[in-house]
Amino acid sequence: MKFKYCPICGKRLSEKSIGDEGLVKFCLTCNRPYFDMPASCVEVLVINEHNQILLLKQEYISKTHWTIVSGYVKNGETIEETVMREVLEETGQKVERMKYVESYYFKPKQLIMSGFIAFVQSKPFNDSNEVDDIMWCEIDEVNKYIARVDNMSGIHFDNSMRLLNL
Ligand SMILES: [Zn+2]
Repeated sequence: MKFKYCPICGKRLSEKSIGDEGLVKFCLTCNRPYFDMPASCVEVLVINEHNQILLLKQEYISKTHWTIVSGYVKNGETIEETVMREVLEETGQKVERMKYVESYYFKPKQLIMSGFIAFVQSKPFNDSNEVDDIMWCEIDEVNKYIARVDNMSGIHFDNSMRLLNL
């Protein structure tokens, strides 16, 4: 997100030279800088006790391919809380343990995505408005379905498999 107006007082921002940062957008009324910032998200590969991978069909993300759980970090929660909340909301699965893998910058939407693996004991799926279809997929079948264009699901799946040695 690039700031043009102060989100507090609404005035147009000036620019000010700050330390090593160079020219930064600055509100002269509120006397505070505004750094360009990405929105913070999570990208979560959910894996169950049978080593199956959870895939989602979400039409608003991809009409042709399946993706993994993702979502925005809400102000006030930690990234780990976002992982647990998004997995529960979108799939009904309870995260028992999680492992950080890597982060990704998704330029088209200016997102910084923290990539995790979430381990669950499979439970019945819930009914989420954001999910059009959901399935457990064998690891060697994932590549048939997973989104690799304009989406981080595929690369995060690859990195997670490398980390788990699967
Ligand atoms: Zn201001």
